[in-house]
Amino acid sequence: MINRRDLIKHLSTFPLLGGFLGQESMESIGFTAKLPARNLAKELGIRTFINAAGTYTFMTGSLMQDEVVEVIQGAAKDFMILDEVQTKVGEKIAALTHAEAAVVTAGCFSALTLGLAGVLTGMDQKKVEALPHLEGTGMKSEVIIQKGHSIGYSHALTNTGVKMVEIETLEELEKAISEKTALMWFLHIQSDKGQIMHEKWIEVAKKHGIPTMIDMAADVPPVENLWRFNDLGFDLVCVSGGKAMRGPQSAGILMGKKHLIEAARLSMPPRGSTIGRGMKVNKEEILGMYVALDNFVKMDHKKEWKMWEDRASLIANAAKSVKGVNVETFAPELGNHTPTLRISWDAAKVNLPVKMLQESLRNGNPSIEIMPGENNTLTITTWMLKPGEEKIVATRLKEELSKAAV
Ligand SMILES: *Cc1c(COP(=O)(O)O)cnc(C)c1O
Repeated sequence: MINRRDLIKHLSTFPLLGGFLGQESMESIGFTAKLPARNLAKELGIRTFINAAGTYTFMTGSLMQDEVVEVIQGAAKDFMILDEVQTKVGEKIAALTHAEAAVVTAGCFSALTLGLAGVLTGMDQKKVEALPHLEGTGMKSEVIIQKGHSIGYSHALTNTGVKMVEIETLEELEKAISEKTALMWFLHIQSDKGQIMHEKWIEVAKKHGIPTMIDMAADVPPVENLWRFNDLGFDLVCVSGGKAMRGPQSAGILMGKKHLIEAARLSMPPRGSTIGRGMKVNKEEILGMYVALDNFVKMDHKKEWKMWEDRASLIANAAKSVKGVNVETFAPELGNHTPTLRISWDAAKVNLPVKMLQESLRNGNPSIEIMPGENNTLTITTWMLKPGEEKIVATRLKEELSKAAV
């Protein structure tokens, strides 16, 4: 039998051998290298595109780091006990994030549901199986939320059977707290839309012995947020894995107090008869999530930021070179903290409704996605671009805007 190294030697002598023999014959003579994987997007006619918009679930989020993909491929080849993977990875994640414990969930949304499930049930198996039916079980049934934080994600919480209680002022908060209160929930991305800030929220909760949870799904960078809320004293912290961290899009992290993470795991696979059985993450995603987080914590964030900025200024300059086009560069303080371009134009000088521009960029080759805004505005971020794609975005944007110049 010819070994791989010999064959490569032969191939360099007869460079066309591989081509003549084809995959099957190659394998029959002991060469097991694979042909390139099937391109399913091409095969099925699924459009792929340059993502100048951002981390959106409907656009499949982010592209996993190469190392995450490698870890997933490696992990796919061996069996492991699911709970052992979660326990070992959980210890590593907890150490990186200053949490007592952690577990990988099916995204931030499922972290919210499972974390609250743990709060409600504790280690009581009967209660675990009763969810989402709370009546007559002795479980608490209300979660307090500031009105400004109520933007739809709280459905993850009502999945457990609880009712949301909305408050606005500190006084209303004190009044809303009762023996039914299971949790006080905080949504970081909306923190400027509520009257009560993190520290006060935690202080009031502690005074009444009520656990707190924070949703910080889209709030890295800054990387420090991964431990900031654990350090502040939130009992549970939930984050997305497939946004800026570029872990698996279907993974997230639930971290916090040890007794609550242990309780949350009672509602998670492999255990059935639970509300969480459908929120499965397997070994590949769990290990992939850990590697994504580990790399993210260790990476040079200043360098990364500079790269995003350089790309943004290239695109900004191209757009601005068209008369009547205005570009503003900013980085949102809360959520999706990354250099962002807001491009707008004077309709008297550039006659192009944003929906038409969006269509033209989408239908071009390569296809490009941006985020349209009101009337004649759009936003662009550069953190989801592959190296070099900023040049294509800049050229295409300038092209379409110039064509519409009057
Ligand atoms: C994205 C997001 C979620 C959901 O996170 P997944 O990881 O997609 O499950 C929840 N809350 C907020 C504020 C988000 O931005």
